[in-house]
Amino acid sequence: MPKVPLPPAPPLGAITSAFGRKGRDPLNKNRVSTPYVFGPVPSRRLGLSLGVDLLPRKTCTYDCLYCQVGRTTDRCAEPRDLVPVEAVIRQVAERLRECSADVVTLSGSGEPTLHSGIQRVIEAVREVMDMQVAVLTNGSLLWRPEVRERLLAAHKVLPTLTSGYEETFQRIHRPHPQITLARLLEGLSAFRKEYRGLFLLEVVFLAGLNDTDREVERLREVIGRIAPDRVQLNTVARPPADPGAVALDRDRLKAIMTFLGNRAEIVAEFQRKGTRGAGNGGRELLEMIRRRPVRAEEACKTLGLDPVTFQDLIRGFLDKGLVREEEHLGTTFYVISEREVPEGEQNSNGR
Ligand code: SF4
Repeated sequence: MPKVPLPPAPPLGAITSAFGRKGRDPLNKNRVSTPYVFGPVPSRRLGLSLGVDLLPRKTCTYDCLYCQVGRTTDRCAEPRDLVPVEAVIRQVAERLRECSADVVTLSGSGEPTLHSGIQRVIEAVREVMDMQVAVLTNGSLLWRPEVRERLLAAHKVLPTLTSGYEETFQRIHRPHPQITLARLLEGLSAFRKEYRGLFLLEVVFLAGLNDTDREVERLREVIGRIAPDRVQLNTVARPPADPGAVALDRDRLKAIMTFLGNRAEIVAEFQRKGTRGAGNGGRELLEMIRRRPVRAEEACKTLGLDPVTFQDLIRGFLDKGLVREEEHLGTTFYVISEREVPEGEQNSNGR
């Protein structure tokens, strides 16, 4: 494992914790939590991924129907200094001392390019910690040259596209007024020309919205102009923010994959079992659920929990109102409760 020098510790008061304002883990009061880092979790596209969350929940340029984090409470389009970068870098380094991962992924509770300090995090993880870095982005700010510049050091960038039509784009993403499909496409094409890493374009399909022949034909044209390294087809695999987001069936997704050509693939379910040094199961489980809805089976595999321990932990979370159960496509998911988000991180509109 590479040596991981730690940057100077930030004052504890600067760590605004998703667990609590004092940065303490509710499952172990003596332990300082690492609210900007979660996992490692198995990613369908990246392998074993240590997640980094650069945003207060939930800050995004979009408010997508299919979002698994929930409704956007701070919809904005101006990058700014959202959480302290030194604290983020320190927490990544601390976590990498405890566990192994294939990649450090910048994603989390919204759009990571909204953090104006993202480049410092990418460079620290890549150069100092000698780790692969991936950025999951909706791509909506790539029309801005300074945002493209900030991502150039990442090994992989994974932007998202859903439609080649403005009206469908607006219906699915409900973007900030500054963001249009034309700007998104301009940014994706410009970034493709400048970027030397792996450019993996995710295309998310929603039944009845962007799965018609007309939509798919337009997507093929648009994707052809962008020319990504790969096209990764996805659908609504977890409980969405809006019940109007309905998953596509596998047969239709396969037909679309064939139509889009040999760079297209359906993103497969990750099969790797367990993680080394996953740490405190309860804390890890709560962190995992905070970032996305989770099934019992995947939580047990990822965290190395036996089903009885999992049930004990989840029952405790349910009793305390930290999580709730939600059915999606005939499967039970555990979803973070809105009440669990601390007061100081709620936007004034209270959603
Ligand atoms: S799916 Fe991604 S881009 Fe869409 S609202 Fe959620 S975090 Fe933002």
